[in-house]
Amino acid sequence: MDSDTDSISDRFNLPDADVSFRSSDKVIFRVHIKNLETHCDGFPPSAFCPSEVVDLTESAATLDLLFRFMYPQRQPDLNTIEFPLLADLSEAAEKYQVYSAMDICKIFMGNCLQDNALRVLNYAVRHGYRDIADEAAPLTVSLPLEEVGAYMHPTYMGSWIRYYGEWQKILELGCTEGWRIGHTNPCRISNSTSCPHWLAARQTVLTKLGAKPGALNDLTMIFTTAQGVYPCAIESLRQWEYFIVVKVKDIPKFRTFL
Ligand SMILES: [Zn+2]
Repeated sequence: MDSDTDSISDRFNLPDADVSFRSSDKVIFRVHIKNLETHCDGFPPSAFCPSEVVDLTESAATLDLLFRFMYPQRQPDLNTIEFPLLADLSEAAEKYQVYSAMDICKIFMGNCLQDNALRVLNYAVRHGYRDIADEAAPLTVSLPLEEVGAYMHPTYMGSWIRYYGEWQKILELGCTEGWRIGHTNPCRISNSTSCPHWLAARQTVLTKLGAKPGALNDLTMIFTTAQGVYPCAIESLRQWEYFIVVKVKDIPKFRTFL
C-alpha cells in the first residue's frame, strides 16, 4: 500500500462515530465524541467539530491503546507492550488527560525505571510524579553524560546538574576517606602501614570509583570484590564502605532540586 494513503483502524471504525482522527502514520480512527467527553479533558477543541479529520502527532499503535481506555471494554494489557510504546502511551494519556489510562501508565512507568531511568525521570518530573522521579534519578547518575545531555528535558537539565554535583561531592569525600582511614585492624601480614593487602585494596577501590559518581551505585559490588581478594583489608574496607553508604543515603532527593 502507498504509505501516503490513509488506512482505517480495524478496531475504531465505528458506524455511528461522529469524529475522526488521523495518526502520525496515517491511520484514521473513527470514535464517539461522548466517549472523549466522558473520559478525558485534553482533546483539541477542533476534535469537537465533527466535519473534519483531526490530525494528531501520536502513532496508530499509541492511539489504538489510548482509545481503548475510553470505551467500556477490557483495558489493554500493558504487560504485553514494549517500553517505547508504553512511554508514548503514557505521554499521550497525560497530554489528553485520559484519566482511566493515566494511573495505570504511572504504575507501569514506575515499574520500568530500572532499565529506562532517564525516560522515566523525564516523564515523572514533567507530570509531577515526584516519588517516581526520586527513585529514577539515582540511576541516571550512572549513565554517560552525553546521553543525559542529549535526552534530559532542557527545563530540568539545571536540576539534574545540581543533583549530579551532590553525587560528585560524595565521591570526592569517599576517595579522601580511603586515604585517611588506613589499616584499622591489627595487621596479620607485615605492619599496618606497608600491609600489601591494604595498599592493594585501597588502590583497587579507588580505581573502581574513578571519577565517576555513578560508581556510588555499585558500592556493594566494588567493596565485596575487594574484600574477597584482600582478607587483611576487610575491616578497613567495611568501615570505608559504611562511611560512603551513609553519605550516599543523605543525598537529597531529586525533588528538592526542582
Ligand atoms: Zn594487613
